[in-house]
Amino acid sequence: MPRPEDSAWAVSVAQVAARAGRSKPIDMVVPAPSGIGDDIVGIREGSDVHVTGSFDSIVDGLIFNGRADASIVGECTRCLRPLDPHWSVRLMAFFPYDMPEDAHGNGEEVDIIAGEDESEDVYPLSHDGAFADLESLLRDALVESLPLQPLCREDCRGLCSQCGADLNEDPDHHHDVTDIRFAALEQLKAQLEREERG
Ligand SMILES: [Zn+2]
Ligand SMILES: [Zn+2]
Repeated sequence: MPRPEDSAWAVSVAQVAARAGRSKPIDMVVPAPSGIGDDIVGIREGSDVHVTGSFDSIVDGLIFNGRADASIVGECTRCLRPLDPHWSVRLMAFFPYDMPEDAHGNGEEVDIIAGEDESEDVYPLSHDGAFADLESLLRDALVESLPLQPLCREDCRGLCSQCGADLNEDPDHHHDVTDIRFAALEQLKAQLEREERG
């Protein structure tokens, strides 16, 4: 079995966990976990994720409060330009000293934990309580943060539906009405030709 400290996302928390009211600042670069995003937008497995924040001990566990800065890869769904890679998410999690043993597999227990505070994610510490592993927290927080329809910016104008020109670069871009009339004539011509044939 792999040791908890061998994980690339392991943080030693034994010193903070010893007593309530302690704090341990975190500033580390870890590899991005697998499975974040898809072909449209995602974070490459193994790319750098900068994690900052702190572990604070309370009576029944450790609270982690911080943020992760990562690089996303993807295209704007309107104009197809590469997205600004800078991606930052807030991290908030609770690592209880006593994770119910049957929390996984027993739906009721999970429901009770989630019901206490739905905005707080709960993760287990290593068995001896000496390490917190950030992998699941990072994966969950980053996956949740990814946009379904990524945009290079909120008001991206996208591409011209007729010719594909980038309307961000040329906001005045338009096609003259005569173009549309011409297109209509083309259509009519094609229709007549079909009718002649048929
Ligand atoms: Zn765009
Ligand atoms: Zn156009």
